[in-house]
Amino acid sequence: KTFAELGVIPELCSACESMGFKKPSAIQIESIPSALEGRDIIGLAQTGSGKTAAFSLPILQTLWEKPQPFYALILAPTRELAYQISQQVSSLGAGLGVRTAVIVGGMDMMSQSIALSKRPHILVATPGRLMDHLENTKGFSLKALKYLVLDEADRLLDMDFGPIIDKILKVVPKERNTYLFSATMTTKVAKLQRASLNKPVRVEV
Ligand code: AMP
Repeated sequence: KTFAELGVIPELCSACESMGFKKPSAIQIESIPSALEGRDIIGLAQTGSGKTAAFSLPILQTLWEKPQPFYALILAPTRELAYQISQQVSSLGAGLGVRTAVIVGGMDMMSQSIALSKRPHILVATPGRLMDHLENTKGFSLKALKYLVLDEADRLLDMDFGPIIDKILKVVPKERNTYLFSATMTTKVAKLQRASLNKPVRVEV
């Protein structure tokens, strides 16, 4: 299979090519067509499977069709992972004029508020700091959000981000798509799945 055969637009196929992705990985083959059909996804996949591109490509593709600030929020358990995701999203979206921002703890709130005031299309964040901005940064809201990604959901929950994620779920639109990725399926992940996903397609590699 090729990225084009999965329904990926030429602009993003060439982005994949320039990143050295010769052909889609298993998780990408399984999830991209359903994601492009508008389905929610629960993906059981490890780091290294290509899951980041699996959830980023459909988001970038639909964003490109109808650009809008605060289009997608990607939640990750750690700062390092948030930066890695943001790098990959930025590289894939480089040719599309996509603006991304990283909102993680341990960094200056003020410069993050300035980044938010520039109305990025895609936010990559750790839950605690994102909540802090939702509560304290004037003019920032996720009322128009179209996509929510919960990456490494098992780790998010192990780090006790569950209550903050529940709060975030209350301030994002019900009408949205959600992608949940996790290395393992635990009772807590299943509960989060029920709280956040709507008739998801389950993909596993
Ligand atoms: P991830 O599982 O998303 O952390 O991705 C692991 C690594 O695989 C990253 O460095 C990606 O750039 C790379 N990658 C993602 N998709 C592909 C692909 N289809 N072909 C080759 N490398 C890929």
